[in-house]
This record gives sequence, structure tokens and C-alpha cells, in this order.
Amino acid sequence: MNSELTQFDLEHVWHPYTSLTKPLPTYEVVSAHDNYLVLDDGRELIDGMSSWWACIHGYNVKELNDAVTEQIGKVSHVMFGGIRHESAARLAKKLVELAPGDLDYVFFADSGSVAVEVALKMALQYFSDKVKTKTKFLALGGGYHGDTFGAMSVTDPEGSMHSIYRDFLSKNYFISRPSCRFDEPWNPDSADELFNVLSEHHEEIAAVVLEPVVQGAGGMYFYHPEFLRRVRAYCSYFNVLLIADEIATGFGRTGKLFACSWAGITPDIMTVGKAITGGYMTLSAALCNEKVMKGICEGSAGVLMHGPTFMANPLATRVACASLDLLLSGNWRETVNHLEIRLKEYFLPLAAYENVEEVRVLGSIGVVQTRKPVNMAVLQKAFVEQGVWIRPFGRLIYVMLPYVTKDEHIRKLAEAVEYVLKNNLV
Ligand code: PMP
Repeated sequence: MNSELTQFDLEHVWHPYTSLTKPLPTYEVVSAHDNYLVLDDGRELIDGMSSWWACIHGYNVKELNDAVTEQIGKVSHVMFGGIRHESAARLAKKLVELAPGDLDYVFFADSGSVAVEVALKMALQYFSDKVKTKTKFLALGGGYHGDTFGAMSVTDPEGSMHSIYRDFLSKNYFISRPSCRFDEPWNPDSADELFNVLSEHHEEIAAVVLEPVVQGAGGMYFYHPEFLRRVRAYCSYFNVLLIADEIATGFGRTGKLFACSWAGITPDIMTVGKAITGGYMTLSAALCNEKVMKGICEGSAGVLMHGPTFMANPLATRVACASLDLLLSGNWRETVNHLEIRLKEYFLPLAAYENVEEVRVLGSIGVVQTRKPVNMAVLQKAFVEQGVWIRPFGRLIYVMLPYVTKDEHIRKLAEAVEYVLKNNLV
């Protein structure tokens, strides 16, 4: 875009989590293909982020382009109240088939945060006739569930900037994040706090809300699947619902189609988003089991009180069907396993650098945790100069690979991270 428009963007357009008076630099993307972002000066950057974890197939994907084009020729948007359309029904059927266990009922929403809001409303409404005291949630330290008010109220208040809105947020219960790591031997003590808080407060708690196995924006932390099994068992015992937020982990990201499968558990409510459309459009869903559905629909309200304008948007649901078809027609499991092997090969040695606290890898996720918080603008510039797109935050330099990433790209991404470590830019 021309310099006038660039200046307008700088002065008038809010970018995520930034200031308008002290804006961070931005880079202009003019197009994208495979796992490359093309900048206005012609440079092609290897994408390590999948655009905030959504573009699992990369960019400008023929199958997804075709799906959108075909749908545009039919209907791009139509209200969902009183109207049905094939893409939504087909997508719902696919989700029900793929989701763990008996999550047979689908509510479409328009972003991850809104799916979390819907999930919270489902849980509150489920209990509203039965146990009137159940008006709170129990969530995990280090958890992140979105930026809307309900989602913020179950997001770690310490780690996120959400503490700014403290006085407006509903008060929920929090326990420390599970101390037992993904690849450590299971330590039963790490579920004690969960048990204690549930046994003391279960009459107030409608649901436990968590990101299964991988906590994303709250720390890129991988915890032991046995913790999930304990949560499931305690929730059933104490008559508390379990909401699994698979918005970041869904659709193969961790090496399982859904991270709940690491523990073989089924939540009562599950949220999905991000990669559901292969990153083409914003779309999310909250799935629930029959117990929750009937509790709501046979309760005094009789309906779920939610209905966004763009609910089940035809373009979004159509491209989501195509994205799932593409994922399932290939060997996604082998692909993600292969990415994990290569990430381990190229990223784990970075732990030798003094400014690195820890390196961890799971599925298509590679995380380099630094000892000190990074300067995002400095690192971003260095990464772009190295020909890669990696956006670090806090003490985390991480990659969330598009599944089409080749071995040599993973090596280049690791070399770029090594460059900033070696040159003490962190
Ligand atoms: N839940 C999780 C686990 C997430 O990672 C995110 C986004 N990073 C959200 C919810 C919110 O999704 P959205 O940004 O689409 O509102």
C-alpha cells in the first residue's frame, strides 16, 4: 500500500495488544502461499506461526480456494434463524463424527472467545434449574480462553493483562497449573489442589474449564494427560461439568486430532475454532453431550439464549468442510509426528544456550523459553531479516508450524532462533 495509507494504519488502526501512541512496527503482507508470507518488498518469509495457529494447510490452498469460490457463487451469507443450509449441516455432522465420545450437538459461533462464552452459558444454563448455587467456574493457572468478558473471567488473571478489567469480571476459582509435565512420570500430588477445591466448593461450581494438555497463550506449557483423567473423574463425582477448550489444540496440532485423546476422555462441552477453517475465515463451535443439551432444552428457559449474526456463515462452514476433508484425506498423524521429530532434532539443541531456560516440543509445536522476557520488536526485526516469521511473547519464542512445513524450513526456523540467541538479542 502507498505511504499515506501506511501512515494512516500506523496512526489510526489498532493492532492486537498494542498502543497507538507507541505503536510496534508492522510488516506488510501482500500475499501468501504454501508456508510463505510475501512482503511488500518481495521478500518471502517462512511462516512459523500458522497465523496464530489457524492456517494448518498453509496459504492459498487450491482445495480451500475452490470451496470458497464455489460457495460464493451460491450464497455467502444468510441468517441462521429459521434457515438451514447444507454446509452447516455437513460440517456439524463431521464435527460430531470426529469429536471424542458423545459430543453430538453443535452450536456455531464466530470466534474462539465467543465459543467459550457459549460454552460457559451452556454450563450455567444446564444448572440454572437444578442447582441454583452453581454460578462459578474453576479454571487453571496459566490458562487462556479469550478476550471477551466471560472468557477473561476463566483466563489466568496473573499471567494475562486481563487484570486491568478485574473489577468488571465475575469471580471464579483458580488452581495452579498442573505441576506434572507432559513427559514426566505421573505425580498424583499434582491433582490434589483440584480435588480439594472441588470438594470444598463443588456446590458453587458449574464447570471446570481448561485447555487439554497444552496451555497456549498463557505459557505454551504441556502438562500430563493423567491430570485430565483425574479432572474427568472428579467432575463426574462432584456433579461438575467439564469444558475442554480445544480452540488451539484441535485438528491435529498436538499429534492427536483433539488433545483430550491423550487422556482418552470426553468432556461435557468442547470448544473448537482457529484451524477449523484452515484459517480462511473466522468460525468456531461449542459441542455438547445429550445431558447438557437436554438440561438446557428441557429446562425452564427451553432454549439456549445465544444467536450471533454470522452464526454458521455459509462461506466459513463450507471452507471448514473442505479443510477437514483435506486434513483427513492426507496422513495428518504421520505428518505431525514427522514435524515433531524434526522439531526435536533442530530445536532441542538450542537448550545449550545460556539465555535459554528450556526447550520443549509436542506435535507441531516447538517452544524455546528464555530466561528473560524478550523485546518483541527487536526479535521480530531480526527474524524478518533471517527470512522467517516468528512472533515471540513474554519469555517464549515458539513455532506452531503449518502442516505443510518441510524439513529444511524447520531447520531455517531453528537457525533463525539460534541467531537471536547467539547474538544475545534476548
Ligand atoms: N481459547 C484458546 C485456547 C485460545 O488459544 C484462543 C486464542 N488464542 C481463544 C480461546 C480465543 O480465540 P479467538 O482469538 O478466536 O477469540
